[in-house]
Formats: sequence, structure tokens, C-alpha cells
Amino acid sequence: MAYDFDFAVAGGGPAGCSAAISLAQRGHKVVLFERDTFPRFHIGESLLSTVNDAFAELGVTEQMHAASFPEKWGARLVTHDGAAGRGVNFVDAEGIRRPQTFQVSRAEFDRILMERARAVGVDVREGCRIVSCSFDGEGATVEHADGKVRVHAMVDATGRNGLLARKFDLRKDEPLLANIAIFSHYENVPRLPDGCPNDIRIISRQDSGWYWLIPISETLMSVGVVIPQARFLQMEEGTPEERFERTLVDTPAVAELMRDAKRVWPVRVEKDFSYSATTYAGDRWLLAGDAGSFLDPVFSTGVSIAMESGIEAAAELDRALRTKRFSARTFAAFSRRQKKRFQTFRRFVIGFYTPQFRDLFFKPNPPKTLFRSVVTVLAGNWNPSLRTRILNRVFFAAVALQKRFAITPRMFERGADAGYPQ
Ligand SMILES: Cc1cc2nc3c(=O)[nH]c(=O)nc-3n(C[C@H](O)[C@H](O)[C@H](O)COP(=O)(O)OP(=O)(O)OC[C@H]3O[C@@H](n4cnc5c(N)ncnc54)[C@H](O)[C@@H]3O)c2cc1C
Repeated sequence: MAYDFDFAVAGGGPAGCSAAISLAQRGHKVVLFERDTFPRFHIGESLLSTVNDAFAELGVTEQMHAASFPEKWGARLVTHDGAAGRGVNFVDAEGIRRPQTFQVSRAEFDRILMERARAVGVDVREGCRIVSCSFDGEGATVEHADGKVRVHAMVDATGRNGLLARKFDLRKDEPLLANIAIFSHYENVPRLPDGCPNDIRIISRQDSGWYWLIPISETLMSVGVVIPQARFLQMEEGTPEERFERTLVDTPAVAELMRDAKRVWPVRVEKDFSYSATTYAGDRWLLAGDAGSFLDPVFSTGVSIAMESGIEAAAELDRALRTKRFSARTFAAFSRRQKKRFQTFRRFVIGFYTPQFRDLFFKPNPPKTLFRSVVTVLAGNWNPSLRTRILNRVFFAAVALQKRFAITPRMFERGADAGYPQ
């Protein structure tokens, strides 16, 4: 049987490029198809500490440091009125090799990864959409805009488009995280005045929504709001710009920061509903990044998950080619790992959309050891030590207690008006 390449990768975002680079580094002949032409806008700009491990593995650490992306050390949490909140410093996280990470313009970040893919020998085809793919006992046939290729197996990294998830009906929605994001880029938004000026700001709304402010260059700030879909539908009609303006002024801590802000892009609205997959691998295919699962962006987990899962998919396919075993059963451990990582982060995200979690999370002086265990996961270390896992359980037990007994002052509204998912 003749193959045009060993492997095909669908999608050139962080998941697809990571998979393709890693496969090429292992000596395989790889083709990557990307529907768009880079550079292109993409949302997902704040990174976690653990991406540094992926950078090192893929050989892009130097490029990342040369790109002058703003340095991120953690987050600043602020309540809607600015009255409470505190810092989250990734230096406090356990099991992290390098805490400092970056805020990135995705156009430039994704271009760096794609250039690296080319440099290690991947046949990168931009502006080339995959239209269909089929699998048989001998290999996979991938049809694209200009023809087709035959390979041993493929990685689907087509993001939320989900080429294979749709083909095989794999998606499982998360009804508790049916949210809408509205966002744009602005100039003239003040940075944090002290410590780590380029950290992400997470500002809670009076209802269950929240804002992000992410400095993505010396002058630009990415500003967005996430609100439940039900709340979005209740909003007064208007253009995306008008709706966004209204949400920016109804929260004092944000209105103050945006006083002199100048918008430089049209406002975008994205349905950012979360989902996972019933399985992440089948006979001769694997899912990486958003093609498998997507989690609400509150803890900036998307790019980390995408890069890790892309590298893991490459390791699986490398082993599969050596053993000539490409069955879903062979990839079962890969699939389990994707589910476990999703579940670990999901627990925190679901928690964030409850007032009791927020009471503890935004608390100005939380117990240090307990909070360290939370920061460890939020820095990207989703598979921490037993001790940290136990402390995480204690944290969630405290959240459960807070729901019933107010073990710390209740800072967040509880009424139906607050719009927390039930
Ligand atoms: C509102 C919002 C805010 C977010 N904020 C953050 C954040 O701060 N930090 C963070 O880490 N993550 C964030 N994310 C998540 C992040 O955007 C994604 O998790 C990340 O981009 C996933 O990478 P990926 O490679 O899996 O998918 P993508 O980056 O989406 O890449 C998929 C690629 O596949 C291509 N493609 C699609 N279909 C085809 C096809 N048929 N053929 C060929 N190519 C195709 C697309 O053009 C695209 O380039 C956010 C997401 C949202 C919605």
C-alpha cells in the first residue's frame, strides 16, 4: 500500500501545529492542512505556565522570548465594585518548572508555531480546507480543497469546527456552561499599577458573568465579557458594539478602567459553549485541542490543553506506526488522559459559576496552603501530587460548606437575578 505521507493533521492552530511539529521531530513525513491563511485573528490570548514545557519540547522557547510578548506571572482578581480581590501568582504553584508565561497576540503566536512546523519539515498547506476523510483497515484518505492524500492515520485539530466530532457525533454539551463572549481590542487601558503589570485581570460582574482584561502588546488590551446565554438574550437589542458598551459601563471597576479606552477592532461575539467528547480516538484517528473538548475560558486553559494534547497525539501515532497498531483500543489510554484533564479543569470552571466558589476565590486573604493547591492546577498542573489533590478536595469541601453555612462573608449575590446556572 502506498502512502503520500505517514500522517495528516487537520487544522493549524496550537493543537495541530504541536502535533505536526512533534511528529516531524520523531522523523515522520507529515502534511498539515489549514483552512485559513496566516496570520489571522484568533481569540485565546492568555497562557498558563505549563505551556513552557510544550515550547521546550517543540523547540520554540527562543522564538517565544524573541517575540516581545507581555510577560504574565498570574492573575489579578477583582470584584465588580473594585472593593475586594487579590493576586494569583504562578510562582506559588507546585510542580511547575517555569511559572512566568505570556499574553500573546494569537495571529503572531500561531504564526510562530506554523513557521516552526515548516522548519522541521512539515508540508504545511495554508488556505486548504479538509472537506472529508475516511478510514479503512489500511489507512486514512483525506480529501481537501485541491485533491486527496493517503496516510496511515490523522490528527483532527480543527478546533471548534470539529471535523471528526461532527462526522462521528462525539460531542457532549455542557448545559451549565452555556455562555456568550463579547470582546475586542483597545488602546489606552491602564495596566496594573504594581508588581506584574501584564497579568490578566478577571473582574466579576454583579451577576454570574465576568470580564477579562489581557495586555497583548505594549499598547493593546484584549477586553471581553462572558455572560450566560440566557442573560445575553434578555439584553436590550443592539449592535454588538452597543451591547458591549452597555456591559462595560454597568460594572464600576470596568467602567473606570475603560474611561479613556479607544477600540481598534470591531466587536466580536462568540458562543463559547463548552463541550467534551465521548471518545478522543478511534481507528486511525485522534482528536487534539478544541476538536475534542472546549472549556469556558475563565482559567485560560485552552491553548495549554491544545498543545499538550497535540504532543500526546504525536507520541501515540509514533508508537502506533512502530507497532503497526492503529485501533481505537490501542489509543484507549490517550482518550482516558484527555477525559481526565478535561474533568480536572472542568471542576474549577463549574465551581467559578457558583457564588459560593466565588466567595472563597475572591476572598482577599484565603488560607495560604489551601489556595496554593488551587493555584497549582490553575497554572496548568492538572495532574499534581497526592497532597495537592487532597488539598483541592478540602477546598471544594469548603465551597460546599459555604453554600450552606457562610463560613466566610457572602460577597456574591444569590438571587435568581444573578443568573447562576441551576
Ligand atoms: C472567548 C474565548 C476566550 C478564550 N480565551 C482563552 C485564553 O485566554 N487562553 C487560552 O489558552 N485559551 C482561550 N480560549 C480557548 C482557545 O481559543 C482555544 O482553546 C485554542 O485556540 C484551541 O486551539 P486548537 O488548535 O485546538 O484550535 P484552533 O486554535 O481553533 O485551531 C483550529 C484550526 O483549524 C482550522 N480548521 C477548521 N476546520 C478546518 C478544516 N476543515 N480544514 C482545515 N483546517 C480547518 C481553523 O482555521 C483553525 O486555524 C478562548 C476561547 C474563547 C471562545
